[in-house]
Amino acid sequence: MFDISEEFGSMVFSDHVMRQLLPKTVYESLKKTREEGRSLDEAVADVVAAAMKDWAMSKGATHYTHWFQPMTGITAEKHDAFLSRDSQGHMISEFSGKALVKGEPDASSFPSGGLRATFEARGYTAWDPTSYAFIKDGTLCIPTAFCSYTGQVLDKKTPLLRSMDALSAAAVRVLALFGKKVRRVNATVGPEQEYFLIDRADYDKRLDLRVSGRTLIGAPAAKGQELDDHYFGSIRPRVKAFMEDLDKELWRLGVPSKTEHNEVAPCQHEMAPIFDNVNVATDANQLTMELMRKVAERHGLACLLHEKPFKGVNGSGKHNNWSISTDSGENLLDPGRTPAGNAQFLLFLTAVIRAVDEYQDLLRISVASAGNDHRLGANEAPPAIVSIFVGDELESVISSLTGSAGSGKEKKSGVIDIGAAVLPKLARDNSDRNRTSPFAFTGDKFEFRMPGSSFNIACTNIMLNTAVADSLEAFADELEPAAGDKEAFLKSLNALVTRELKAHERIIFNGNGYSKEWEEEAARRGLSNYKKTPDALEHYTDEKNVSLFERHHVYTREELVSRAEICLDEYQKAVRIEASAMLEMLHRQVIPAASAFSKDLAQSIQAKSALGLESKGERTLCRRVTGLLDSLVESVDALDVIASRKVDGVMDGARYASDVILAQMDVCRDASDSLEALVGKEYWPVPTYSDILFR
Ligand code: ADP
Ligand code: MG
Repeated sequence: MFDISEEFGSMVFSDHVMRQLLPKTVYESLKKTREEGRSLDEAVADVVAAAMKDWAMSKGATHYTHWFQPMTGITAEKHDAFLSRDSQGHMISEFSGKALVKGEPDASSFPSGGLRATFEARGYTAWDPTSYAFIKDGTLCIPTAFCSYTGQVLDKKTPLLRSMDALSAAAVRVLALFGKKVRRVNATVGPEQEYFLIDRADYDKRLDLRVSGRTLIGAPAAKGQELDDHYFGSIRPRVKAFMEDLDKELWRLGVPSKTEHNEVAPCQHEMAPIFDNVNVATDANQLTMELMRKVAERHGLACLLHEKPFKGVNGSGKHNNWSISTDSGENLLDPGRTPAGNAQFLLFLTAVIRAVDEYQDLLRISVASAGNDHRLGANEAPPAIVSIFVGDELESVISSLTGSAGSGKEKKSGVIDIGAAVLPKLARDNSDRNRTSPFAFTGDKFEFRMPGSSFNIACTNIMLNTAVADSLEAFADELEPAAGDKEAFLKSLNALVTRELKAHERIIFNGNGYSKEWEEEAARRGLSNYKKTPDALEHYTDEKNVSLFERHHVYTREELVSRAEICLDEYQKAVRIEASAMLEMLHRQVIPAASAFSKDLAQSIQAKSALGLESKGERTLCRRVTGLLDSLVESVDALDVIASRKVDGVMDGARYASDVILAQMDVCRDASDSLEALVGKEYWPVPTYSDILFR
């Protein structure tokens, strides 16, 4: 039997293991490093490394690797054996403190957006002692940050840690105003991961799925998701076996996978872990995605993490549940039960509202990708407009403070006196939630629903943490002079909250985010609506954004410029790969299939007319297929020309990909999908939507 309490974290060099295996002084010193973010003493590192190696070898590990999150979005590792030659020339097992603390991957082929080219060709990885080491596939993985030799960040982890520090420092100052002495405040995140599971044999037969993660052609299946019979439906035995296996692997790695269920679309599922500090949750989510793919393969399945694997079928997202919490576990987005608790909550809530309004562009940017463009703004996903859902109770609190009408209800004013009144109890009912909101308050946390299923959640949380840190810092600056004088403090607090809510109320929207009216209303309110990735990325390095990140020491200007470049380049490459895959499938599979089918039809017509028989139906069909084939060949020729054109500059390249290449791919797809509906099943060269989704 699998004993979860025994197995959970058994492959993690956790605090518990460290306490057991390290001398007390070493443990204490490491703990300080972890808690205070200091650098590790070399002597301490040697002892930790030796203990880590012995522990890992006792679990069957033979290699170690620095495990990091470069800008590619996936994790990277380069394995070294615990092997060394001693002074007598004998081979011994070894793992030094130096090897633990710092690695030097020959990382010249990771994207750097020009950062390393200008300075130093190589980068280094440095142990992030705030994340635990773990064993995966016989290798000790040491979570690390990845930097250039001049200290510029080349990964997603370092800026995340920096943003957490900024948030903590600002939140600690604000809490001091409420008489709370807190050492550290952390952002907590529980990412809900959606994915598709399909039969491996179908996957292997489709070049588009293999190289781009989504189907580039495919007519709709006879049955879609119109019956809503898959959502929370009973899980098929094969999928159940996958989930059980996945959970076991995740638990051993200390990933608290908690909930597994079917999602809206056929073959779509979701996994939600128990939340953790955002850096730990980010590592865990990266591991989750990797293991989902691996475990699926073992079960004869393929796990699709693309945001829109099937046209016309629900896409996959990753809901980023986010809150902030003190080191003693007080959730700062929990309304509290007393007037003082409510006042503190309202201040933090206001900080988030201001942050999301002022940096709506950054949140949109953090979820921009070729894959997610097919999802955002489509019918089932939040629109590309960022807005906040707070629910009726909170909205009425906010409108009493600001004096605005809120959802067309009666205008109220001055009902609430912050610091004196207790808020009405807020509902935490699931059914009450507005599923169409991209950023929803769900009782004691916010749920950001725009991230795509394949994303590393670091970027979104860097934006959120930094923007909220900025609000909190500004609030602390304003309120600190009144600290100590209760009356003066409450007066300043009331004034600040009321003013800020008035200024940022436009971001609050409780209605249907999928409606056309909202798009018009949002435009009237001046909210941004960046429909495509290049539209969003254009604003990455807007002066206000550069200034935000520099102010909080999260990114330098150069780092931000490099990131924008990497994202744009990644976008155009993704589209160009899709175009190539599509061309190959159309040229070598679809066109020959349609041609063979129409040839057989023509021969049948000929044979029949030789006997004096006339089939009108066959003639009509043959003419139709031939006509569609002609238009397909014509559009494929056009795509050939379009895709072979090189465009200089990443922004121009991305726009070309978005406006020209993708547009022509749509034309090709239409012709191919119309043919699919007519061409005989045994002629069609790839598994269809019905084959894949309703097996
Ligand atoms: P559901 O959305 O299915 O109703 P929950 O609201 O309980 O489920 O949780 C969804 C996700 O939010 C889970 O991953 C959960 O761990 C996470 N979560 C719950 N509380 C917090 C919090 N304070 N901070 C961050 N994430 C949280
Ligand atoms: Mg949820």
